[in-house]
Amino acid sequence: MSNPEPEESARLFERATELIPGGVNSPVRAFNSVGGTPRFMVSGEGCRLTDADGATYVDLVSSWGPMILGHAHPAVVEAVRSAASQGLSFGTPTPGEIDLAAEIVDRTPVEQVRLVNSGTEATMSAIRLARGITGRTVIVKFSGCYHGHVDALLADAGSGIATLGLPTSPGVTGAQAADTVVLPYNDLDAVRRVFEQRGADIACVITEAAAGNMGVVPPVEGFNAGLRDLCHAHGALLVIDEVMTGFRASRQGWFGCDGVAGDLYTFGKVMSGGLPAAAFGGSAQHMSYLAPAGPVYQAGTLAGNPVAVAAGLTTLRHADDAAYATLQSHADRIGALVTAALDREGVAHTIQYAGTMFSPFFTADPVTDYAGAKAAETWRYPAFFHAMLDHGVYLPPSAFEGWFVSTALDDEAFERIESGLAAAARAAAAATRPDGA
Ligand SMILES: *Cc1c(COP(=O)(O)O)cnc(C)c1O
Repeated sequence: MSNPEPEESARLFERATELIPGGVNSPVRAFNSVGGTPRFMVSGEGCRLTDADGATYVDLVSSWGPMILGHAHPAVVEAVRSAASQGLSFGTPTPGEIDLAAEIVDRTPVEQVRLVNSGTEATMSAIRLARGITGRTVIVKFSGCYHGHVDALLADAGSGIATLGLPTSPGVTGAQAADTVVLPYNDLDAVRRVFEQRGADIACVITEAAAGNMGVVPPVEGFNAGLRDLCHAHGALLVIDEVMTGFRASRQGWFGCDGVAGDLYTFGKVMSGGLPAAAFGGSAQHMSYLAPAGPVYQAGTLAGNPVAVAAGLTTLRHADDAAYATLQSHADRIGALVTAALDREGVAHTIQYAGTMFSPFFTADPVTDYAGAKAAETWRYPAFFHAMLDHGVYLPPSAFEGWFVSTALDDEAFERIESGLAAAARAAAAATRPDGA
């Protein structure tokens, strides 16, 4: 099969570009790094999206993670409808917030959570809390890890920053950048050296539980545990960002894969059910520093919104062990199809997993850090991506992003993916290295 020309999407993109910077409300949706016209989606059902031209796509982005049950899951839609019909927001506590907090506490090492509206807010607040608890200023982050668009965390970040090839962002002050130490991912010796030099000033180390914003790069054996030990030896906190991996990599997030507990956690994406919701949490003792229990201020007019909470809670309640087994088998099956197709065309690659998250890299070597991710033959990706798009498979429009499956993938979806991959592998093999790359 082959999809129609994106005429309506092109028209919409032109209009959007007049009104919205770059035509998109988040840079990762743009097609800057792959070329062509971003598709304007008008509906989704199960594993499929339909765009403004009526073309359909098997969705391997899943709204960048949240839609693990697929689109418009009947139980989630019904929960949202029911919550909305009882009022959209009250600016008071609501019962559902307790149920969502309890579900998160049940699955993770945290004892308390505060609900917020986005992953960015969660990491921003967790860092403020870490600084408030320790009375220290310096934070340590890793190259290629993305923690939302928090000023202090944009340096050498993954996701859209990696896709657009930016080192950091104008608008971040020198002082904010100076309080952030950026180290290579998976390099415990570098962390050890920084603690030796500045240990008394370090409030926290923040790391993605398993990196997924430079493509999927899991921590090497002992990395997360080593971070925890170094932090604790120096009185710093370990902030584990599970916004992407949480309730996605496994039922318990990445914690379910390596069992290493951090001090503070951030969650988002899956626990939102597709509406704006996120959370940060930790021990009751650490969380007691937050207002109104304690002095560290943090707030939100729409935080714990009843409709968002209903979507998140219903999604998590349907994300049971059977769902995670299905997600894992879907991820494994697609990874095997990618390898078979690329092997047939002789394209060097490696597929890396973090639980049910995965991504291919166009290099034969395992990728363990951002330098390795950038050294892959990312210039093969635009041709690969567009061949898949033409065959009705929607991949992330970036070589530096993970692929996200849903439980809703069906036989037709796998057939489409397999036939798309045959063409995409040929296109990747035929791609030529641009000058200077
Ligand atoms: C997506 C993401 C964020 C930011 O979440 P938003 O809801 O987009 O603000 C933070 N950390 C990680 C690891 C993410 O993947």
